[in-house]
Amino acid sequence: MNTNDPSFLKLNPDSITDGIGANFPDERSLEKLAREMFGVLQSFGGSNIPTNVLSSQNVQKETLPYLEDLKLTETGFSYSNFQSFPITNIPQSGGGNIVSARRDFPILTETVNGKPLVWLDNAATTQKPTSVIERLSHFYLHENSNIHRAAHTLAARSTDAYEKARSLVQGFIGAGSVEEIVFVRGTTEGINLLSNILSDKQIQAGDEILITHLEHHANIVPWQMVCAKKGAKLKVAPVDDSGQIILSEYERLLNSKTKIVSITQVSNALGTVVPVEEMTRSAHKVGALVIVDGAQSVSHMPVNVQEIDCDFFVFSGHKLFAPTGIGVVYGKKAILDSLPPWQGGGNMIKDVNFDHTTFQEAPFRFEAGTGNIADAVGLGAAIEYLNKFGMKQISAFEHDLLEYGTKELLKVPGLRLIGTAKDKAGVLSFVVNGFKTEEIGKRLAEEGIAVRAGHHCAQPILRRFGLESTVRPSLAFYNSCEDIDALIRVLFQLGSRNRIGI
Ligand code: PMP
Repeated sequence: MNTNDPSFLKLNPDSITDGIGANFPDERSLEKLAREMFGVLQSFGGSNIPTNVLSSQNVQKETLPYLEDLKLTETGFSYSNFQSFPITNIPQSGGGNIVSARRDFPILTETVNGKPLVWLDNAATTQKPTSVIERLSHFYLHENSNIHRAAHTLAARSTDAYEKARSLVQGFIGAGSVEEIVFVRGTTEGINLLSNILSDKQIQAGDEILITHLEHHANIVPWQMVCAKKGAKLKVAPVDDSGQIILSEYERLLNSKTKIVSITQVSNALGTVVPVEEMTRSAHKVGALVIVDGAQSVSHMPVNVQEIDCDFFVFSGHKLFAPTGIGVVYGKKAILDSLPPWQGGGNMIKDVNFDHTTFQEAPFRFEAGTGNIADAVGLGAAIEYLNKFGMKQISAFEHDLLEYGTKELLKVPGLRLIGTAKDKAGVLSFVVNGFKTEEIGKRLAEEGIAVRAGHHCAQPILRRFGLESTVRPSLAFYNSCEDIDALIRVLFQLGSRNRIGI
């Protein structure tokens, strides 16, 4: 037996006991017992069901790939016998009309304090289109079941829906196969999963983990924990005054001790778009594995993980018009299969005995227990919705909105924009002389305008600019120039109040 095999866990025999010295019944004798009990139940009249209920005459059989393809084996669900959903190619420019997209989001017709809601807190979370809301409802009305392990119709419906969502994610981020898509709770859980499974094999004392000054706390703290545990060093690539990574400094920090590079694609605090492709290329030259935090990029631009060539890519569904509690870790298949699991339990195993266990291949090895099935299906629905427009079209639309917003904000007296990189997406962070950020946030809220005022879980980058907090309107493709005008109007009123000393 190869003890380095990440698919296998063997215990020392001395460490297993049932406490009283009795033999465990083996699985075959338990099965025999169950069959005998079933026979007894049947003899008590278990077949009193009217035959017309059981008759399948005149009833159309559903096409359910899970049931069609699945040869239920002793090892359970496996992609080797389930290949029903082809990769959905990403339409770069679907025919959908972005200008009317707002109508697809019912919450945007809410009023707040008697004013129409203006949702400019998209970097925190996005709103959900009707198609996603209805998809969740359909799931619970018609499909709800646990997945992968049963041979009944609802299990087939829910497994098909869940696996279809996986293939939609695959197409959306350009992954090579569905087996590279692991469902998790979100970006935070994804990075924690990676930091846990990578730290054992990949990190020794004295090794280095390289991040950037732009990172969200979710891409800082897990690495600090690894460094503390393994005696490794955390290195930070600096940014210039615009908030863009200084590439020459980043390159200087890379060396043979760099084992992991974990970088955001878009900064949630400043909106900087980071050149992850170029940075991945440099990191690979020194043999480091590259993780890209896509929490803020997937909703704003086309993403292709094979073009970036990162080893891992992580994002949250709720920032992509999908439900909360669902997210994705993409990993190159060969790398995923070489890594041990993080959490143990059902679904992630092939075979369990008291003295040894074998694990499933990726992605199931990393999906222990019952996952967030309905919300994964909701994520699939969000991607189908976005595919109607195409991320290229969405990106171009938002680019114009961001330019308009920047131009208008800079007209506000005393306003300082934080984050002025040439390449930005989705975020307009600022402070206004003489006003606390919470004060501005509250004033905007009174007018029905939702923005984030605070440290945005990215304290190091704000401190780099001498600040503890900013006001952060953040955009999605359902926003409009009118939303920005509403924001600017309140900011101008704020300025005039200040001047007359109120
Ligand atoms: N990374 C970035 C860049 C983020 O913006 C966020 C969320 N604000 C996260 C990670 C964490 O995402 P979640 O809270 O969905 O796990």
